Amino acid sequence: MRLGTGYDSHRFAEGRKLIIGGVEIPYEKGLLGHSDADVLCHAITDAIIGALGLGDIGTHFPDTDPKWKDAASIELLKSIVELAKMNGYAIAWVDSTIITETPKLSPYIEKMKVAISRTGIPAGRINIKAKTNEGMGFIGRGEGIAVHAVCLLETERSTMG
Ligand code: MG
Repeated sequence: MRLGTGYDSHRFAEGRKLIIGGVEIPYEKGLLGHSDADVLCHAITDAIIGALGLGDIGTHFPDTDPKWKDAASIELLKSIVELAKMNGYAIAWVDSTIITETPKLSPYIEKMKVAISRTGIPAGRINIKAKTNEGMGFIGRGEGIAVHAVCLLETERSTMG
């Protein structure tokens, strides 16, 4: 068993699509980033990389590399799920918490699970929670979104048993 944690945050910006967990969410602003700034996918990706002991998301997908400009982060997550598999691990569990004042994300949680399951993480092994920051700090001021995630990896053999 291996445990990893991931954290990510992105600033809101005008003229950007809001993509969270591979789902486009109708909103007046999106998140700023080199890629599509999918804050949930980034946190989950980092949690898996952490559990693998292979550094962080920046090591694998440097934001100085034009290859990742406007990249679909769900594809980056998919490649890290494949990397876990190549290292003999299966994703046993992912839990995550998205923290934002707006928009309300609960109507999109199931869609996010379905989108993320396309990376190879079974939908039944993903939990996504959404909450506000009770008006406090940068999140409370509506400046951006943060996500915390944890991932538990198990050896492939134990998942088949
Ligand atoms: Mg990020």
